[in-house]
Amino acid sequence: MSLTEKWLKPSTLADLRRVDAGWLALRQAQEPPKTVVQKSASRLTDISFDVAIAGGTLGILLGAALAKQGLRVALIERGMLRGRAQEWNISRSDLDIFVELELLTPAELERAMATHCSRSAIRFPGAKPIWVEGVLDIGIDPIYLLAVLKEKFLQCGGQLFENTAFMGATIHPNGVQAGALTCRLFVDAMGHLSPITQQARNGQKPEGICLVVGSCAQGFAANDESDLIASLTPVVNYCQYLWETFPARDGRTTYLFTYVDTSLERPSLEALFEDYLRVLPDYQGTALEALQIERSLFGLFPAYQSGGIGSRFDRVLAVGDSSGSQSPLSFGGFGAMVRHLKRLTFGICESLQWDCLESPDLDQLQPYQPNLAATWLFQKTMCVEVNQKIGPDQVNRLLSSVFVQMESLGSEVLRPFLQDVVQFQALTKTLLSLAIAEPGLVAGIVAQVGPWALLDWSRHYLSLGLYSGLYRLFEHQHSFFANLPAPWCYRLKRSLDAWEYGSGSDLGKIGR
Ligand SMILES: Cc1cc2nc3c(=O)[nH]c(=O)nc-3n(C[C@H](O)[C@H](O)[C@H](O)COP(=O)(O)OP(=O)(O)OC[C@H]3O[C@@H](n4cnc5c(N)ncnc54)[C@H](O)[C@@H]3O)c2cc1C
Repeated sequence: MSLTEKWLKPSTLADLRRVDAGWLALRQAQEPPKTVVQKSASRLTDISFDVAIAGGTLGILLGAALAKQGLRVALIERGMLRGRAQEWNISRSDLDIFVELELLTPAELERAMATHCSRSAIRFPGAKPIWVEGVLDIGIDPIYLLAVLKEKFLQCGGQLFENTAFMGATIHPNGVQAGALTCRLFVDAMGHLSPITQQARNGQKPEGICLVVGSCAQGFAANDESDLIASLTPVVNYCQYLWETFPARDGRTTYLFTYVDTSLERPSLEALFEDYLRVLPDYQGTALEALQIERSLFGLFPAYQSGGIGSRFDRVLAVGDSSGSQSPLSFGGFGAMVRHLKRLTFGICESLQWDCLESPDLDQLQPYQPNLAATWLFQKTMCVEVNQKIGPDQVNRLLSSVFVQMESLGSEVLRPFLQDVVQFQALTKTLLSLAIAEPGLVAGIVAQVGPWALLDWSRHYLSLGLYSGLYRLFEHQHSFFANLPAPWCYRLKRSLDAWEYGSGSDLGKIGR
């Protein structure tokens, strides 16, 4: 009997194997996706909602925010709208937006914060830990958060349809019909496996996957610190294992994650879980027998080199995981949604106000973000190709050196990166100091990723510089843009948003 079979409940093991079957199918040849979105030339006679959202997990964040702005919003969820038991880790500074948008009172926000961690480490073999504060330092209670947002949504007139699955939608010139619902704008918040996204991507395979397994367990020594990234081993079986741990309400959460591509030879989640249980006692200094596993956690996060899908259909917009617009390095989709909540809320309100609902206009609501595109290269340096020959310690050495350089450059360089925000100046300084301190290592990385990846990356790096410059130049022109006639006002304001968020200039600007 394997450790996984011994330690996981039978129902959890069955779930793990079900997700693994999906992971195998993704690596094998893909079936063509079903057509769930169609077009019709006829006009709808009656439109009941401004916005209809499918998928309630992150959909309710946007649903509540839009209903609060006075829009008529419907939300359909195939199950019951309820948060998961496992906390979402996020940085405290990202959370004030809930109060600013009047979705939570300060007391409710306080209550939603289930755990706090005092400081967080970055650990690599043979190197001193690097400590930071205020990064992913809060564990949000999803059950409480979603319950409060659901209540606010209903209070503001939102209509919730639980146990109602999205089956398909027809786009008309003046609206969208999905089942019995009619709306002006349809929002897809159905996660990575959204049938709309699958149709929009037309069976395209993701170029990168982050595989994650872990658990929340009791029995560890009391500890209110976390690890944001920890490595214990060299590259084994073409995988560099990385670890994370956070204090949790029900004990302690530990994750093992690794970046891979979709080669058939890649490990199953069950194989990864086996390694997780084998190494966990060494990582946390606690025997498995001393632990009581409260819940097991696993998932896979696809990432596309081309980034988010933008909007491929008129009047249909993807948000949350289905949009594919979060960092390819992190599995922090909740955090990404919170960071973009204000931009999306006001952007959607204005798209409805000025009837900017065709695909190119909606594309501007999920725009190209060079700061995320630039992180592709980092993903690639941590993803060892099957049969690729690299030194077993190369990834550890690279990551350790990058973090040492960032720490020496100060917290204004290190902290944004840890919060999934890459900024032009900080990135330039880090790369220059790395090239000076470790030229041999940099040459090894260039050989590992190859010239084409580097060339492609240069394009995103230059765009990052351009976006930073454009945002600085125009950041005070909001009111000038606001006075222009629609649709120019809408388009220029969205461009300003794209330059701001795409250059990481949004960091720490909540409350403006
Ligand atoms: C192990 C693990 C740990 C994580 N930790 C963190 C963390 O610490 N911090 C963080 O920021 N993020 C974290 N995440 C990521 C975060 O959970 C996701 O980004 C987030 O759940 C994405 O929400 P979503 O609504 O976009 O998609 P999903 O979570 O996939 O939700 C989709 C929703 O749509 C509904 N739905 C699906 N199909 C239909 C349909 N046909 N009709 C109607 N409804 C439908 C589903 O029932 C569900 O409610 C973690 C994820 C995992 C797996």
